[in-house]
Amino acid sequence: RHRILQEMEGSLTARDRVGIQDFVLLDAYTSETAFMDNLRKRFNENLIYTYIGTLLVSVNPYKELGIYTKKQMDIYMGVNFFELPPHIFALADNVYRTMISETSNHFILISGESGAGKTEASKKVLQFYAVCCPSTRLLDNVRDRLLLSNPVLEAFGNAKTLKNDNSSRFGKYMDIQFDHQGAAVGGHVLSYLLEKSRVVHQNHGERNFHIFYQLVEGGEDELLRWLGLERNCQNYRFLIQGECAKVSSINDKSDWKTVQKALIIIEFSEKDIEDLFAILASVLHLGNVHFGASALGYLLGIPSNMLREGLTHRKIEAKAEEVLSPFTAEHAKYARDALAKAIYGRTFSWLVNKINESLANKDSTRKTVIGLLDIYGFEVFDMNSFEQFCINFCNEKLQQLFIQLTLKSEQEEYEMEGIEWEPVPYFNNKIICDLVEEKHRGIISILDEECLRPGEATDFTFLEKLEEKMCGHPHFVTHKLADQKTRKTLERGEFRLLHYAGEVTYSVAGNCSLLFKVMRQSKNSIIQHCFHAIEPDGKKRPETVATQFKSSLAGLTEILMTKEPWYVRCLKPNHCKQPDRFDDVMVRHQVKYLGLMEHLRVRRAGFAYRRRYEVFLKRYKALCPDTWPHWKGTPAEGVQRLIKHLGYKPDEYKMGRTKIFIRHPRTLFAIEDAFEICK
Ligand code: ADP
Ligand code: MG
Repeated sequence: RHRILQEMEGSLTARDRVGIQDFVLLDAYTSETAFMDNLRKRFNENLIYTYIGTLLVSVNPYKELGIYTKKQMDIYMGVNFFELPPHIFALADNVYRTMISETSNHFILISGESGAGKTEASKKVLQFYAVCCPSTRLLDNVRDRLLLSNPVLEAFGNAKTLKNDNSSRFGKYMDIQFDHQGAAVGGHVLSYLLEKSRVVHQNHGERNFHIFYQLVEGGEDELLRWLGLERNCQNYRFLIQGECAKVSSINDKSDWKTVQKALIIIEFSEKDIEDLFAILASVLHLGNVHFGASALGYLLGIPSNMLREGLTHRKIEAKAEEVLSPFTAEHAKYARDALAKAIYGRTFSWLVNKINESLANKDSTRKTVIGLLDIYGFEVFDMNSFEQFCINFCNEKLQQLFIQLTLKSEQEEYEMEGIEWEPVPYFNNKIICDLVEEKHRGIISILDEECLRPGEATDFTFLEKLEEKMCGHPHFVTHKLADQKTRKTLERGEFRLLHYAGEVTYSVAGNCSLLFKVMRQSKNSIIQHCFHAIEPDGKKRPETVATQFKSSLAGLTEILMTKEPWYVRCLKPNHCKQPDRFDDVMVRHQVKYLGLMEHLRVRRAGFAYRRRYEVFLKRYKALCPDTWPHWKGTPAEGVQRLIKHLGYKPDEYKMGRTKIFIRHPRTLFAIEDAFEICK
């Protein structure tokens, strides 16, 4: 024992250098400074992963670390979670094995701000399953399709932004379905809130969706000729507003080839692919329209005089007669952009559906699933519009889910095991969720009312209504009240929400009616399908985008509630996309709003660790002569014998029905070290 202690002291210096691999074992676990020190220490040693219990914290290294090889996968496959250094593969493996052994459904929620590494993490998980799960030759193509759905979705749904050269501009939830042997047999993708405004407008330093540049740079000569496109991005208004059509980190030409191959493997027909490119080209042409383009009508399969009329006139109903009234130039531009956005948005939904058809598993036997949720993090810009409002609302909802599932499951576990515990205080953001989504009273309800009210509803009447109804709400700040709650003043036409992750000021933006009727007459089958499927039938009260989003989030919450949660929290170390730079202030802010300290406190409250008796005994039995090498009794008795031998005091642990609960990490720490030395 003396020798063990001596050697433990030796290993302490190593710990000083590389930090500890689980924050739960941190002595000063309530101190944010200690948390930051540990994170920074590890980052400086290229150790980007750290656990908080089973939650994985990841810091984007912005460089290749060589830690995602096949060899690494083999190392992590089938090994107990805490036995190896933290890794995304360890989490993936643990989820997978839990799914198999318990025949249960799971999801991995990957969150963090733009550029923190969410999409990379989700790809690593998918790759791990693709490589490590058993498969038959028959199912090899499922695996390929699962993997290849990524480049297609990224081409159409990702873009270069200031924060990330490959930023996902949509939220993605992907189910991977497994059979009883644990082979991946199918998948399903749900997409959320594609940022359509990017089709017609990009900020300085940003691009449109990758696929447009891929088409113009990589498309074959013959294809471009057919589409009436020139091989020069500079010729297309929709491609150059950000003045950065070329990006050094992106190879549009080779990406084009990858996407082509993927489309074929996912089984898009030749006709589908043709129609798809025609639509992309038509969007580019639309951007250049000065209200007289016939190529556009041709590509969209619509007589050009009809299209022209649709773009330049609006229909007024007067005494049961329809009268066409000309638009002003400003209105026509607006209609054009709205059309481009609608075409692209609906084509994206169509694309996701096609991918789902291809990933669908036709076999009806019961399957278990692992869901991967890669969703945009909390966003704050100088100018925040409706899109940020939806994104941040989504994050509120996910935080709410996190609170419910984590605290709930913790409580349930103690109850099930018959163990007493003290609840941990935490900020419940339900009040903010309600503020946004409550029926008849929430912001979305008020927005709906204003949008659907006949007569003169404007952005300002909406704001007035908000001010009237939300007045006095602790998380809502209006123009009038701005100075009382926060020091920053508000412009006219803005309101501010105090989100759980910080305050955001939103400006109120307009809505408009589209050219759907004309689009339905198209001969392009995708366009036909898209504009038929979604247009609400005349009488039904149409849904606003906000309401649609609210219901799709409710749907997502429902999907997730029935599954066991796992979390990956991604942190962005600096604003410059640079390796080896750890900006303390920036990381600390993320640690705060991702609720990591709270999570740590919850994990530590009462009992820091719990292990099933079998697992605990299997791991540590070598530390006691009675249990080594074989223990004949029940695992619970074996554990009792073992900890008696180790000299645990009664208040250090509790024996549940199936698990041992250990109060202080230090206790576990000591046997972990003893165990290391024993090995
Ligand atoms: P997010 O989806 O959170 O916006 P991404 O996953 O797209 O962010 O990551 C942004 C960029 O950061 C990637 O394109 C890649 O260059 C780099 N990156 C992210 N995660 C890793 C990682 N684990 N190892 C190396 N580089 C990474
Ligand atoms: Mg992403």
